[in-house]
Amino acid sequence: MFAQLELFGHEQVVFCSDPQVGLRAIIAIHDTTLGPALGGTRMWPYATDADALTDVLRLSRGMTYKAAVAGLNLGGGKAVIIGDPHTQKTEMLFRSYGRFVETLRGRYITAEDVGTTVRDMEWIRMETRYVTGVAGEHGSGDPSPYTAHGVFVGIKAAAKTVFGSESLEGRTVAVQGAGNVARNLVAKLVGDGARVIITDIFEDKVQQVCREYGAQYVPPDAIYTVDCDIFSPNALGAVLNDTTIPQLRCSIVAGGANNQLADEERHAQMLAERGILYAPDYVINAGGLINVTSEIEQWSREQVVRKVESIYDTLLRIFRTAQEHNILTIEASNRIAEERIAQAHHIHRTFVGTPTIRNG
Ligand code: NAD
Repeated sequence: MFAQLELFGHEQVVFCSDPQVGLRAIIAIHDTTLGPALGGTRMWPYATDADALTDVLRLSRGMTYKAAVAGLNLGGGKAVIIGDPHTQKTEMLFRSYGRFVETLRGRYITAEDVGTTVRDMEWIRMETRYVTGVAGEHGSGDPSPYTAHGVFVGIKAAAKTVFGSESLEGRTVAVQGAGNVARNLVAKLVGDGARVIITDIFEDKVQQVCREYGAQYVPPDAIYTVDCDIFSPNALGAVLNDTTIPQLRCSIVAGGANNQLADEERHAQMLAERGILYAPDYVINAGGLINVTSEIEQWSREQVVRKVESIYDTLLRIFRTAQEHNILTIEASNRIAEERIAQAHHIHRTFVGTPTIRNG
């Protein structure tokens, strides 16, 4: 286990057990150089404990990079509750989990993730303040519109880099997924003059988007082969893989889904070899995290929007760095994250505590 932690560079992993309420959870704190570790709690019926540990380690490390590149003063963390979100949720399970979060005294701040909802966050909040994404005046609300806005400005930055103009007038965008992020994104794309081709596994959901925005429907498997300028994955992870990359007929991949590359290095390399510009997923989809951070930093809506829009400049910088150094865009963004963390380490050398001296 320690070898695994050393490999990814994790600071702390907490195993939480409360058999009476059926709680088995793991909280992973990857890196707190920049600030408290923030990341959602995922509830999932993992086949083995080892699968749960691997997932939480991978996800928490991703949060460190996402926050660092977004310029946030947050570290990376994530938690998993092992269980079926459809049948095993109770108030006491989440309150028990909330007490474990409280024991970390703010080193870890939680939020919603796959399998958890606003109601679950409210149960957690009964036991700890270190939770975001609750309803009401303390909450920052649905993050999807902010994520979609970040993806939209990110697509424009990619268009500027590849086509020399950020305007999407007359461009064709193939959108995978018709969920919360995708719907908000399609409205913006169409508003900017783009033609949208879209898919989802739920046909009624996608047909509604087609009717509302004049988008064109294709079946799920056909989205990869659509002749387009931009392919925008907004559904699942690992959609950029050995099977799909050779099928793509686009110049840019830029979308909100997490963990798009099945194998980070190999598949980023395959995209580059095909001459496709890849906007690193954790950079372009940071709008939701920026919005949640407003609950901690007390930012206004205008400040949140401004920060989300800075994704445009961040991506331009990443694309430029990748080109200048002849490296992959994902390597360029990883470097930016690692450099920011290393520099923060450096400035934190200076002692700022208040020593108590009792010398008579
Ligand atoms: P969502 O559940 O609302 O939408 C996902 C959609 O994808 C659903 O409509 C689903 O039916 C569809 N889908 C699933 N499998 C598919 C397939 N094989 N082909 C086509 N469509 C498929 O989720 P969301 O909140 O819109 O998030 C979308 C993605 O963005 C996820 O990967 C999520 O992790 C990521 N993300 C979301 C946010 C946010 O603010 N919501 C923030 C960061 C990242």
